[in-house]
Amino acid sequence: AKNSGRNTFEVFRAGMNELIEKRRALEVDMDAALLNGEYELFLQPRVLARTAEITSYEALIRWHHPERGLVSPVDFIPVAEASGRIIALGEWVIREACRVLAETEVERLSINVSPLQFRHGDFHQRLSEIVLEAGVAPDRLELEITESVLIDDDQRALMLLTALKEDGFTIALDDFGTGYSSLSYLSRFPFDAIKIDRGFVSNCGEEESAAAIVHAIIHLGTSLGMRVVAEGVETFEQALFLSRSGCDEMQGYLLGKPQPISCLATSVSEAVAA
Ligand code: C2E
Ligand code: CA
Ligand code: CA
Ligand code: CA
Repeated sequence: AKNSGRNTFEVFRAGMNELIEKRRALEVDMDAALLNGEYELFLQPRVLARTAEITSYEALIRWHHPERGLVSPVDFIPVAEASGRIIALGEWVIREACRVLAETEVERLSINVSPLQFRHGDFHQRLSEIVLEAGVAPDRLELEITESVLIDDDQRALMLLTALKEDGFTIALDDFGTGYSSLSYLSRFPFDAIKIDRGFVSNCGEEESAAAIVHAIIHLGTSLGMRVVAEGVETFEQALFLSRSGCDEMQGYLLGKPQPISCLATSVSEAVAA
């Protein structure tokens, strides 16, 4: 029994070491990735629920790792956030988004702003500088934030959101319904849009309780004067339910997957040529 206890600990320690090593390797690789241009923004369309007309795109980061291939943001954004690298990475996202807005036919983009990035003292100033330098009107950029940025210091968060909106940026509350005290945040913060989390959307076609929640969120957001966006729309049934319930905009594989900007550019020029 003693032996097996030690073995279990050895296995645990080996596992921990491996995890720490992997994480460290990822962090080192991330620094190189920024210098080597291994990151790319994929764009996913957001469409009007009534007409399916594209209103904007969400920028979703991808990492082309030289050995591992395409790495998901789910795997590296948390590491970037925990190590502080999200500040530099987040700035790259803003710059790249502005470049796309300045150089392509894309009219509006939304970018994801991580909690640490949002709370960083320089965020507003850096954002303003980059946007000004690129010659991009702030109202072409929407900032997607999650409830977690509002929890720590809501007084400061409120001031920052108000200032950003005065500059012309629009703000969307991402992953709505997954955090807590969502309802009080909605009345206290000046969001332009709320995005219903995929978890509710994916079940709204079949589950009555999910459908009821989606319906309630749409009513709530609409009556507070916010645009309501459903994310993760995958089926026609979901789209039908959402548009009938008064949802403003939809995003999801049914409407379009995240794609490289180059794919978008060709489809735009093809459309022009046709
Ligand atoms: P998110 O902001 O909630 O983004 C939506 C995620 O759902 C994206 O995953 C998107 O590809 C995926 N998605 C879109 N439509 C569908 C659908 O119909 N079905 C399913 N199953 N999934 C769908 P992705 O691109 O892997 O990004 C994951 C998360 O990583 C994002 O969640 C966001 O929190 C974070 N992220 C991505 N790009 C950035 C970035 O540039 N900066 C920061 N800070 N975070 C980012
Ligand atoms: Ca998002
Ligand atoms: Ca989301
Ligand atoms: Ca999410």
